[in-house]
Amino acid sequence: MLLDVRDLHVEFHTRDGVARAVNGVSYHVDAGETLAVLGESGSGKSVTAQAVMGILDTPPGRITGGEVLFEGRDLLTLKREERRRVRGAEMAMIFQDALSSLNPVLTVGDQLGEMFVVHRGMSRKDARAEAVELMDRVRIPAARERVGQYPHQFSGGMRQRIMIAMALALRPKLIIADEPTTALDVTVQAQVMDLLAELRREYHMGLILITHDLGVVADVADRIAVMYAGRIVESAPVLDLYKAPAHPYTRGLLDSIPRLDHKGRELYAIKGLPPGLTRIPPGCAFHPRCPAARDECRTDEPALYEVTGPEGAAAGRGSACHFWRECLHG
Ligand code: SF4
Ligand code: MG
Repeated sequence: MLLDVRDLHVEFHTRDGVARAVNGVSYHVDAGETLAVLGESGSGKSVTAQAVMGILDTPPGRITGGEVLFEGRDLLTLKREERRRVRGAEMAMIFQDALSSLNPVLTVGDQLGEMFVVHRGMSRKDARAEAVELMDRVRIPAARERVGQYPHQFSGGMRQRIMIAMALALRPKLIIADEPTTALDVTVQAQVMDLLAELRREYHMGLILITHDLGVVADVADRIAVMYAGRIVESAPVLDLYKAPAHPYTRGLLDSIPRLDHKGRELYAIKGLPPGLTRIPPGCAFHPRCPAARDECRTDEPALYEVTGPEGAAAGRGSACHFWRECLHG
């Protein structure tokens, strides 16, 4: 197993009190596999990733429990230097906003080349050649001519390709992409997503794709973990989850995306808003919004139950709903 996150807890100290941003999240990714982590903003999906990447080591955020095993070693217990080495070379992150992640006063070639100069000890000239090659790999046209241009001279989609090239430079084993296409228009989104999927296959990397958009994951992800209020509420192979969700929240999300086979049907939207993380409701955190909620949902917190049974539930499926069986057959 490439990455194995176990029972991770993260808190933030805010003026309103302690925000429990991540409350016992476990997930894993193998080499060559894509895990989509789906959730609304504030669900804890980005914070979990930041904890994995080690960019959450400073206040006000604090990892209060759990393990982040990368190839079997717990990154949370490694010495700072060793941790930095693993995280610098073996995992990389792609963010939504390429323009603020890239340095505006350095050419694209210099930024890409810097990776090879610093981490591989290459000469400037060789590093520049590597930069051109990387730009080719992410299919930026006329790479040789454009390597001397600045980030603002590229379109949004091309900048996102440059971010992908930066992430790939050191051949990481794991890439975490946090809403990598959210700022792009729909056609460009699909192209960037296809590129990511293709590179993941080619380099046999693990990919964690963080998104709020269930529509973008169907074609690229192998498995999905759905997050709500800092927990995973459902995890399943993508196709199983699409076919038959085992949690009312997932069902609500599925019912609220337009689908070709449901033309003309009115779209359902989940009522209400996700809870503030300083005030997570007792019992099932989703109960104030859940159309299937009953009394015990207000007091008893559901564990992530294993979803099993003759209905063809796949191994490794889980749902944090007391009534997952009914949901599955709903
Ligand atoms: Fe809804 Fe209850 Fe299931 Fe929570 S446990 S999702 S409130 S039915
Ligand atoms: Mg986010």
